[in-house]
Amino acid sequence: MWPIAFQLIKTALVGVVAVGVAFYIYSRQNCIDESPLRADERRRRSLQGEKSPELRKVIIDKLNSGTYDCNICLEEISRNDEIVSCKKCYTINHLRCIKSHCESSGGSGRSPHCPSCRKSIDYELQYYCFCGSNFNPMPIEGVTPHCCLSRCTNRNCRLQCHPGPCAERYREN
Ligand SMILES: [Zn+2]
Ligand SMILES: [Zn+2]
Ligand SMILES: [Zn+2]
Ligand SMILES: [Zn+2]
Repeated sequence: MWPIAFQLIKTALVGVVAVGVAFYIYSRQNCIDESPLRADERRRRSLQGEKSPELRKVIIDKLNSGTYDCNICLEEISRNDEIVSCKKCYTINHLRCIKSHCESSGGSGRSPHCPSCRKSIDYELQYYCFCGSNFNPMPIEGVTPHCCLSRCTNRNCRLQCHPGPCAERYREN
């Protein structure tokens, strides 16, 4: 009777130890995978490499095909419209729509905020090309609407005047 009970206990102990070791290895692997460095690296890569070119491309395609709609009046933003682009979320609206939006929210005493990202509008409400080099730019044939032919004024950007986020030059390290 005793040797059998002893044998059972021994088997159970070996089983518990094996499960424990397996769990330890598993949690170590997960821990390595979720270390702050890796998470940081992932975030950095997704910011630089995936999201921003995608957003820029969507805006450019819509502007070129005349399918970008102002989210205030819900009407199309055409090549000949005066526009303003949020410096924070890159959303484009008609200049006249943003101006009336600011006037109507001005009564509340708070500084006007972007209708898309809700961040405060602390930039000039004037019609400039996207890079800001040209005031009241004329449409250029074959060029994305509201863009000029200059280089982006952000010195770290490798693009010509463009809507949406800048494309940082790739830096070593
Ligand atoms: Zn509008
Ligand atoms: Zn915004
Ligand atoms: Zn420009
Ligand atoms: Zn740029």
